[in-house]
Amino acid sequence: MIEVRNLKKAFGDNVVLRDISTDIQHQEVLVVIGPSGSGKSTFLRCLNLLEEPNGGSIKIEGRNLMDPTNKINEIRMDLGMVFQRFHLFPHMKVIDNIMLAPMQVRKWPEEKARKKALELLAKVGLADKANALPDSLSGGQAQRVAIARALAMEPKIMLFDEPTSALDPEMVGEVLAVMKQLAKEGMTMVVVTHEMGFAREVGDRVMFMEQGVIVEEGTPGQIFEHPTQERTKSFLSKVL
Ligand code: ATP
Ligand code: MG
Repeated sequence: MIEVRNLKKAFGDNVVLRDISTDIQHQEVLVVIGPSGSGKSTFLRCLNLLEEPNGGSIKIEGRNLMDPTNKINEIRMDLGMVFQRFHLFPHMKVIDNIMLAPMQVRKWPEEKARKKALELLAKVGLADKANALPDSLSGGQAQRVAIARALAMEPKIMLFDEPTSALDPEMVGEVLAVMKQLAKEGMTMVVVTHEMGFAREVGDRVMFMEQGVIVEEGTPGQIFEHPTQERTKSFLSKVL
């Protein structure tokens, strides 16, 4: 469903993605791990063209993102993204935050968007927060709203960039639980995270990146129990 071939990205002289090739299958949960600066966020951002690659190709369900004749905005709608920071609009109620993109981008009528938003709020355990303002929410609640907001566009693929790193420890679990449920329902997901427990339990595949290359990838069992590369072993010894 996602086919990445020889992806390259540099910022000036700083080559951040050297040569990334991988396939992400329908309903797969790919967990991306690696040290700070290894290019994990840049990789995710290339997948939905928040960053423009310098080389290689990315195909999403057969459509090449770099082909100017393809409608990038349509392809982008298939991808939901959740960041470390929630980026909710502070002056809008929770429900309006969730309804905004479906109404403006998908042109859904208000009632359809509201129904979907309420369903999603129930799904992330926040049915009672529809009329709250974002500032009144805890970090864990705000991140669950951000997930609901991304899901409101009915994406086929969800990208998560360290969705729990900015949270107080006691709130990490509630966000991971929502993500785990999504995975169980068959969502295709690419997750950058330092939560090794999640990677092990929910990941179908773990990819270890360093300095813009994939050093090693495999099942969680392979990567955590039997890493073959010294660089993977050294990284894991610091985070496990
Ligand atoms: P972290 O774990 O700290 O989030 P990361 O693996 O996500 O790290 P990236 O954010 O992809 O790493 O950054 C990789 C490199 O690219 C870094 O050297 C960073 O400074 C650089 N970089 C990222 N975004 C930009 C940008 N918009 N402009 C210039 N340089 C950038
Ligand atoms: Mg990052």
